[in-house]
Amino acid sequence: MSGGRFPRLVAFDLDYTLWDLWIDTHVSGPLRRPEKAINKVLDRDGEVISFYKDVPCILQTLHQRGRVADGEEEKTVIAACSRTHAPDLARRCLGLLLMPSLTKEATLQPAIELFDELEIYPGSKLKHFRALHERTGIPYNEMLFFDDERRNIEVEKLGVTFVLVPSGVNQKSFQQGLSEWRRRRSEDDS
Ligand SMILES: [Mg+2]
Repeated sequence: MSGGRFPRLVAFDLDYTLWDLWIDTHVSGPLRRPEKAINKVLDRDGEVISFYKDVPCILQTLHQRGRVADGEEEKTVIAACSRTHAPDLARRCLGLLLMPSLTKEATLQPAIELFDELEIYPGSKLKHFRALHERTGIPYNEMLFFDDERRNIEVEKLGVTFVLVPSGVNQKSFQQGLSEWRRRRSEDDS
């Protein structure tokens, strides 16, 4: 993740964008994590919940970038935007999923700590993004959003860059999304 400017906010849907299930229909609480298992949570019936392979690294790198960036313009806010009917279960899962360490010294960190904003409740994602905009003051054209469902492209009406990821987020789709956002911004500037 180097070279070029970053959006001021990057948002991710949860179901089938970061993990391969619907948290409200495929999972039953209570959730638990086997000891210090990395990127692995089990539900009541032993169903495994994990982020897709490339997701921990993408989130951690974005998060670290924000921490070392100099000035507000450089910081990237990370948001989760989901319309799940099980918001408590989704939050609990994010709180339990441990992310691998990027360095030997780092302590293991639950995924939820990588997110600056959580918009998790049913309804049109227009609502989720309006709430993000109001709370952060970040313009819509500074927002990049990854989602596996085409219907959520409606957020483009606001000016958000929407990236359809039918097989979930991975390094390739993340970079493509970033490039698309940069292309649009350079058109805005010209
Ligand atoms: Mg989804």
